[in-house]
Amino acid sequence: MKRASHERSYKDPVCGMEVSYLTAADTSEHEGKTYYFCAQSCRQAFDAEPQQYLHQHRQHGMPPGHSE
Ligand SMILES: [Zn+2]
Repeated sequence: MKRASHERSYKDPVCGMEVSYLTAADTSEHEGKTYYFCAQSCRQAFDAEPQQYLHQHRQHGMPPGHSE
């Protein structure tokens, strides 16, 4: 519990921006998980091709473990 004072944030899988459930412009559910997006255009891109964004996790310049 080291982030108790920080609201939970999620990474927008499309653009990589960090958003929280308070600041997210839109959300989408995929395979039982909720994803948060900075903009509706990001959600639309994700909805069109979710696998593309989930699979590129960690492959393109994202250091593993950077954002826990
Ligand atoms: Zn975004």
